[in-house]
Amino acid sequence: MIRAHRGSTLNTLGWQQEGALRMLQNNLDPEVAEHPEDLVVYGGTGKAARDWPSYHAIVRSLTTLKNDETLLVQSGKPVGVMQTHEWAPRVLLANSNLVGDWANWDEFRRLEQLGLTMYGQMTAGSWIYIGTQGILQGTYETFAAVAAKRFGGTLAGTITLTAGLGGMGGAQPLAVTMNDGVAICIDVDQSRITRRIDHGYLDVEAKSLAHAVELAVAARDAKKPLSIGVLANAAAAVPELLAMGAPIDIVTDQTSAHDPLAYLPLGVNFDDWKSARKDPGFAQRSRESMAVHVEGMVGFQQQGAEVFDYGNNLRTEALAAGYANAFAFPGFVPAYIRPLFAEGKGPFRWAALSGEASDIHKTDQAILTLFPENESLARWIKLAGDRVHFEGLPARICWLGYGERDKAGLLFNDMVASGELAAPLAIGRDHLDSGSVASPYRETEAMKDGSDAIADWPLLNALVNTSSGATWVSIHHGGGVGIGRSIHAGQVTVADGTDLAAQKLERVLTNDPGMGVIRHVDAGYDEAIAVADNLGVRIPMTEG
Ligand code: NAD
Repeated sequence: MIRAHRGSTLNTLGWQQEGALRMLQNNLDPEVAEHPEDLVVYGGTGKAARDWPSYHAIVRSLTTLKNDETLLVQSGKPVGVMQTHEWAPRVLLANSNLVGDWANWDEFRRLEQLGLTMYGQMTAGSWIYIGTQGILQGTYETFAAVAAKRFGGTLAGTITLTAGLGGMGGAQPLAVTMNDGVAICIDVDQSRITRRIDHGYLDVEAKSLAHAVELAVAARDAKKPLSIGVLANAAAAVPELLAMGAPIDIVTDQTSAHDPLAYLPLGVNFDDWKSARKDPGFAQRSRESMAVHVEGMVGFQQQGAEVFDYGNNLRTEALAAGYANAFAFPGFVPAYIRPLFAEGKGPFRWAALSGEASDIHKTDQAILTLFPENESLARWIKLAGDRVHFEGLPARICWLGYGERDKAGLLFNDMVASGELAAPLAIGRDHLDSGSVASPYRETEAMKDGSDAIADWPLLNALVNTSSGATWVSIHHGGGVGIGRSIHAGQVTVADGTDLAAQKLERVLTNDPGMGVIRHVDAGYDEAIAVADNLGVRIPMTEG
């Protein structure tokens, strides 16, 4: 069993390397990873290292890596250590990248079977997954936006139907109840339902669909938040609930539909899933089941429910299986998140390398003091402090924008320097951020200027973070929506309390969200143009 080192004693030659080591280990902590024995962290088959020999070689290399060296990781395998300099990242990672014409699941799996690549998802292969909390705030904000758009600012008195209680999807029940709503959450895997109940993300399990509806209606009528898990296949359950006339107000889904092998088709027993997957016709059967699932979602939409795709590419697979109306409902980014991205806002996160929960509680207080005027941030930090169960190294996430992240990073670095925190912090983010991803079925769906598939932006993002002093930088392909459908970049910077770290943090945490601002200025978003004007983001085409 792998668990990150804790405490203030180094196992490496410096805190930058130590940060990378502890966060890699943390990604594979059984409290954090969905299937650590297979190196799978979350998101279907998103892995932290290609195989166990690669994992051990990465750990060995990080342990001896000098402060002016850089470890290169190619799809989860360490392939070189090069002399660079102190400002350079200690680790550079490229995961799952394929040349355009070859960028499809079949070719990816052929190469994976040859042991030549691995699927890195977003934060699995880039060592900054922090358990389900990582997605919790985004999910909470999304449901808050749904509430604001359709239900007078609260989900009280509404029922949400969704599926998928995995690493990311498991945040949905808690996000709904944090918004005072009722959620029915379907999963085919009993262990995922039990795990979410154990971790406090899910309240109860229903014995059947009818029982779930009964519990949901009672809670809704009492205006009480409640999340209900139910063991079923979503492709069967969603149409069944529609046929039953279940009073559902909101429908979405977070099964692992981005990868047809990670979605259980109708007619396959859960226990036979692993072996059935080897059948060449399995992916097509999954797609056909997704078509039935999406048709059920569209049925709810036609009855007036708020329906959205939650970033798993379910619509595309349903369309591929011949369901022509699959894009009847929008993706969650254009529906609710784009205005935040346009301001450079996105999921900022940090983990306490000490392993001490008190370090995170102190940073929570620091954030509240730093941004006293931001009420929704304060509400989130308080809710998270009360309700989020730490998984692995204690960590926190909150959405911060351009002009905010650098302030938080510098304050945290000061807290490390003064000894207020027991050890340094790793400060990073999801690849799902304002200027770090090209993903036409998700983050960049329906861009104003039609630039959905332009992937220069995430590459520039990785280059600028590398040039600004990030501790590790990653470029991935296929995260969230699957191979061939996205390119994205990540960064993590370790706040170790030194002056050098302060200089690096100031640059990285300005330039990284700055990419989101310039990307959206370029696409013509007014919110981005206003931020650039007000905060002095330089846009060459508007100068001179
Ligand atoms: P996961 O693999 O950990 O969990 C997926 C869950 O779906 C599993 O518990 C599985 O048992 C269940 N499942 C599979 N087929 C099913 C079916 N037919 N009926 C009911 N349940 C079924 O994946 P995850 O990390 O939770 O991610 C879920 C999806 O969300 C992925 O496609 C991922 O790419 C996407 N995602 C979205 C966001 C976002 O911000 N919206 C972020 C990250 C990932």
